[in-house]
Amino acid sequence: MKTKATKAIATRCEICGYGYVFPQDRKEHAAYCRKLQRARQFFGDDLVLTYHQREELKKLGRSIWQNEALPLGERVDGALMEITGWYARSLAESGYNRKFESFGKYAIKLLRSSPRLYPTEIYTELWKRYSVAS
Ligand SMILES: [Zn+2]
Repeated sequence: MKTKATKAIATRCEICGYGYVFPQDRKEHAAYCRKLQRARQFFGDDLVLTYHQREELKKLGRSIWQNEALPLGERVDGALMEITGWYARSLAESGYNRKFESFGKYAIKLLRSSPRLYPTEIYTELWKRYSVAS
């Protein structure tokens, strides 16, 4: 009697967030996982995020900056969380190009193109911070 081949299992890697079928897509996943880990070493863990992490960060950031009861500094941090989620998506879409624009440059470009993205007091703080840094 022949041993049956390993049953295919749909799985998701906790390191890189890649959803795949094991064992068929093992190689594809391994290549993606290596790429992501190299990107984390280069750009830092806080800028190389999985889809799920990006969505969570944006959601949390939005709930913070929209809460007018919080001090301005915290709301600015909330806006930065949201912008980080967008930056992480663009960085991923670039294939983790090492020449991808810095976070500061990305932030200032975003503020310039979307002046009504945040309430004036948050916008002003972000502008002060990143128009100097970039
Ligand atoms: Zn992985």
